[in-house]
Amino acid sequence: MYSHDVLVLGAGLAGMRAALEAARSGANVAMLSKVYPVRSHSNAAQGGINAALTDRGDDWHEHAYDTVKGSDFLGDQDAIEVMCREAGQELINLEHMGVIFNRDDEGRLGTRAFGGQRRARTFFVADITGQAILHVMYEQILKYNVRVYDEWYATTLITDHGRCGGVVAMEMRTGEVHAIRAKAVILATGGLGRVFEPSTNALICTGDGMSLAYRAGAPLMDMEMVQYHPTTLKGSGVLLSEGARGEGAYLINSRGERFMERYAPNMMELASRDVVSRAEITEINEGNDIDGCVLLDCRHLGRAKIMERLMYIHEVAMDLVGVDITKDPVPIRPGVHYQMGGIKTDVDGRCWDPSGGWKGVEGLFAAGETACVSVHGGNRLGANSLLDTVIFGRRSAEAAMDYASANNHLEFSEDNWVGGEKATMQALLDNSGGDLVAKVRLDMATAMDEGLGVYRTEEGMQRALDAVRGMKDRFKNVIVQDKGKAFNTNLIFALELGCMLDCAEAIAVGGIDRKESRGAHSRLDYAARDDENWMKHILLYQGPGDQVTKEYVPIVITQWQPEERKY
Ligand SMILES: Cc1cc2nc3c(=O)[nH]c(=O)nc-3n(C[C@H](O)[C@H](O)[C@H](O)COP(=O)(O)OP(=O)(O)OC[C@H]3O[C@@H](n4cnc5c(N)ncnc54)[C@H](O)[C@@H]3O)c2cc1C
Repeated sequence: MYSHDVLVLGAGLAGMRAALEAARSGANVAMLSKVYPVRSHSNAAQGGINAALTDRGDDWHEHAYDTVKGSDFLGDQDAIEVMCREAGQELINLEHMGVIFNRDDEGRLGTRAFGGQRRARTFFVADITGQAILHVMYEQILKYNVRVYDEWYATTLITDHGRCGGVVAMEMRTGEVHAIRAKAVILATGGLGRVFEPSTNALICTGDGMSLAYRAGAPLMDMEMVQYHPTTLKGSGVLLSEGARGEGAYLINSRGERFMERYAPNMMELASRDVVSRAEITEINEGNDIDGCVLLDCRHLGRAKIMERLMYIHEVAMDLVGVDITKDPVPIRPGVHYQMGGIKTDVDGRCWDPSGGWKGVEGLFAAGETACVSVHGGNRLGANSLLDTVIFGRRSAEAAMDYASANNHLEFSEDNWVGGEKATMQALLDNSGGDLVAKVRLDMATAMDEGLGVYRTEEGMQRALDAVRGMKDRFKNVIVQDKGKAFNTNLIFALELGCMLDCAEAIAVGGIDRKESRGAHSRLDYAARDDENWMKHILLYQGPGDQVTKEYVPIVITQWQPEERKY
């Protein structure tokens, strides 16, 4: 059996940062990914990464306050303090590894403004920041000889009495199923954006890690907090980075008005994402739209700046909607972008609480978009996600190594675990007479779009939940047409669909439960934030049976009491 001290599931920025930290200390570490590592979704990150550097008069307390306010006071302030305090050092680490950040006119690391922040503290590589960091990080992974299982698909966590001791995974090239033993497992499996359509996320963002942890007994937290990004391209939903507004682009409606004046007179287009997305939907609903969209206007930035700093979105707008952003405004609307909720962890990535405040799975850690530490609360600030991946990727590796050195491998029967997974897969392959995977997937996404959009109501969310539960039944008979072993992507899509349905159900259950409007969760039937009753996180556990069990934990407040949120 394959065996490691620390096994990292996921090779995006969170996974690579975790694997690198573990490898540097000499641990026997492996990283497993369903796609070739540099094709992980972190590759798509465009605008940048936040850090408050003191040499330009910034201060991590200010970054932390902006993050707390951005989160609509749902973020845990102890975790936010950790992230913002450690950001500067981590940024310098990235630069020393070889990330070539853009420079300012004086030759120092350059910054651009991002939404919801009073200072320009976003460091960037043009509009390909994720790609630049991911490639540099992968060089380090190769340098430290991390064992990489690439194009392996993890299907289940091996657990016994609430402890995780490895995973079962399919080698996609051969279709063989293996158990991999590890003293500590770190989930860095990314987001779930494809539960909705369209989405800015890649097809691989199917919430697998959240579902795996949930099935193994770990709680999912604040799943109702799904971020709609204000500038996604008409039709395809492809992202046009907030970096464009950071560089000074405007939002205009069909009358040519910069409508953000009415919604956020101080921060205008750079108010936080939930605020801007709601403003756009209000404009669209009031008829100030063009074909269901408003417009992003970059023309006044000038061709030189656009081609230097926004060349990727220039290309995307040209290729996908035929608009040259140096000459014309481009049609955009809010689209699903990021999951603030996820697997509940402490500030060291632990998916269980050693002091017993909440339950979970021992030996299991999580970092990045799959986790909920919670540093984003009800609304993530742009460029805080890449920061989250590297800070909590590193911290989870440190804690996982401590755990691995203090504990032996879990004993389990390889035959039983592998045999069980093979039987589950065979049952899917043997199905006949059910729906195609793509049909159920589209029905799920449609139900979620309709019920859990920018504005929500009890009836709409209940309708989506009922529909998703119906799809969970249909999923049992879903048809996998490809019966082969090598690269059976049809089977993988089916397994991913099972994960997405778990996530969709959790999003709707959390949404119905939270009877207030906070951050991205905006209810027409409970339009106000309710600090008296809802300064708490919602934890969801699977079971017993098909039920979802709820638990509440208070928000951690260190220095910033809730206040009215204006931009
Ligand atoms: C278009 C776009 C632009 C963005 N721009 C920015 C930005 O400028 N700044 C910012 O801060 N944030 C940005 N974000 C958000 C940010 O990119 C992501 O939140 C972050 O990169 C997630 O990193 P991650 O390491 O958690 O996951 P990912 O990079 O998504 O990696 C997940 C990994 O898990 C693996 N995996 C998943 N399931 C399985 C399985 N079952 N078996 C095996 N492997 C599995 C995948 O193969 C992959 O390697 C952007 C997001 C999008 C969509």
